[in-house]
Amino acid sequence: MKIEIFNKDERELKFLVRGVSVPMVNALRRIFIAEMPSLAVDYLKFYKNDSPVFDEIIAHRVGLIPLNNASEIYITPEECGCKEGCEKCSVTLSLEKTGPCTVYSSDLVSGDKDVYPIIDTIPITKLGEGQELKFDAVARIGTAEDHSKWQIANAAYKYVPKIELNLDKCDLCEECIPKCPKNLFYKEKNKLKVRDIYECTMCRACEETCEQGVIKISHENDAFVFFVESYGNMGANDLVTKALDMLSTKLDQLKNLVDNI
Ligand SMILES: [Zn+2]
Repeated sequence: MKIEIFNKDERELKFLVRGVSVPMVNALRRIFIAEMPSLAVDYLKFYKNDSPVFDEIIAHRVGLIPLNNASEIYITPEECGCKEGCEKCSVTLSLEKTGPCTVYSSDLVSGDKDVYPIIDTIPITKLGEGQELKFDAVARIGTAEDHSKWQIANAAYKYVPKIELNLDKCDLCEECIPKCPKNLFYKEKNKLKVRDIYECTMCRACEETCEQGVIKISHENDAFVFFVESYGNMGANDLVTKALDMLSTKLDQLKNLVDNI
């Protein structure tokens, strides 16, 4: 397997991977979007809600506020086995506000200094003069297989495009150049050239335009451009490391199962 990183920052990572099969990259994609454990608010206990927004809507909004990743500190409710949630499997974020004001995610006061909303400016509701809002929000570990509020990343991959040019047939009519939505073709020294094949979306507009049959679009079978975007709960680097560890563990488990048959 060969990996080449195209670009990388705190939230995003784009890389080229060679020498792997579709099931393998798809398994990795599924781990990113559905199987990574994270912490999100699971239910709320309301003591007072004078706001114009129903309890259920506030609960839904608070559930979607991304919290920093503390999945190493807490165990899942299933592992814990308790019913209501204890200090091993849950953390409570409390909120108490009196209007007039806008209630933001930053108003949540966490029971654990290592658990906090990663974005402070998410509005929850507005309160009028004298209106009160008071609740306890209980966050638990889960995965996006249960609910998308536990999703912490998006991931996608595409085949590496292959653009073959049979320049002997090319009469330099240049009709293909404006047809490419990514503007990948250009003419240099009386020759048709391609700028950045990784940008090609394989729409085949160039292939269809060229009556001489100069351009042939296909893709490589064992090379992919993989894209990962973190929702901020953890950095892109840690995210990829963790996903690869999970994939490796799953493959080991499969190997053991097969060995024992
Ligand atoms: Zn518990």
